Amino acid sequence: MPVQPITHLEFQNKKVLVRCDFNVPIAEGVIQDPARIDASLDTIRYILEHGGSAVLCSHLGRPKERSAALSLKPVAEYLSQALGQKIKLAPDCVGDHTGKMVEALKPGEALLLENLRFHHEEEANDRDFSHELARHKQAYVNDGFGTAHRAHASTVGVTRFIAERAAGFLMMRELEALRAVTENPKRPSIAIMGGAKVSDKIGLIKNLLNKVDAILIGGAMAYTFLKAQGIAVGRSRVEDDKLELAKELLAQAASKGVKIVLPSDHIVAAAPQADATPHTVAEIPSEMMGLDIGPQTAAAFIAEIERAKTVIWNGPLGFFEIPAFAGGTNRVGEALANQIGVVSIIGGGDTAAAVAHAPWAGKFTHISTGGGATLEFLEGRELPGVKALEV
Ligand code: AMP
Repeated sequence: MPVQPITHLEFQNKKVLVRCDFNVPIAEGVIQDPARIDASLDTIRYILEHGGSAVLCSHLGRPKERSAALSLKPVAEYLSQALGQKIKLAPDCVGDHTGKMVEALKPGEALLLENLRFHHEEEANDRDFSHELARHKQAYVNDGFGTAHRAHASTVGVTRFIAERAAGFLMMRELEALRAVTENPKRPSIAIMGGAKVSDKIGLIKNLLNKVDAILIGGAMAYTFLKAQGIAVGRSRVEDDKLELAKELLAQAASKGVKIVLPSDHIVAAAPQADATPHTVAEIPSEMMGLDIGPQTAAAFIAEIERAKTVIWNGPLGFFEIPAFAGGTNRVGEALANQIGVVSIIGGGDTAAAVAHAPWAGKFTHISTGGGATLEFLEGRELPGVKALEV
């Protein structure tokens, strides 16, 4: 069943519950990166401009109980500036006081509810809490793609009590971008994979083996694949209990005709430290660890990118937090960003963190705002928060 886009709903004189993902990094009351808030501004503006009142809600962090450090107050202040109108913060997401604040909203006004996770009922998808959250609202818009893989009260439970529902612009952009990879991608279609562990990406690799023509593997996870093939990896990070699995995945790729490109050279050092002396090698010495793909590997990856029409990238190609080991991720990222005529989708989480601030980052087709949600979508799993929007 289809998910309705926000443009299909009428908002005039309606109170609209808008689930956003305002789970932004905050240090001492200061928002460190407002990208997730910015990503939902067009959805909020659309509702306000169409005569609705927006009742915004989100979680922030993982509070065990109510705490000032995890209040959404800085987000309310940021929204007030970004939207050019005072956005009040309700002291709670439910309750009579908040109910009155919601009722008092006029068309074109917005209110932010306090951190949903101050109530454990949110994550428990509690029926009464969902009912309470839905009170006084005539429509529901979910724009929080980053939490769509969770069946919580604000992502699933409320839809039992609000009939009119739709996906916000960010949610639609995310779904469209990720579907471009998983449903009839333009070919050749390739996946670039990196990051720390094979074990986190088994479902992803298995699903992509049915979707893509080639998988380029870097990051620490490459060393488990190399070791599985009997190649010396020194002290590189390896999951020894996943060597058999790595062999199996390589065999599956071969039987499906999916090309696997593994690193053929490496940037190594004794340890992942900022003062380490990096060396470029083809064979990893026994006392060294591989911390980035080498220049020859980067060139091989770029050659694949130049032939591709669709590229999905999940996971940094090296220990990018230390500049000496960020070169591979940056070189491949820049080449992908500058590639004309390719659909380039950057998976969320660490991959986005590794490239989002580069000057060329704006040239990707899409940088996903989801971490777990993006991964689960690409694994071929149904996201409960998306399923709940179907009408
Ligand atoms: P993930 O969350 O699985 O995407 O993994 C990201 C983490 O993998 C980052 O913190 C990187 O520093 C780390 N990483 C990438 N390449 C390597 C490597 N060669 N050795 C150790 N850690 C790495």
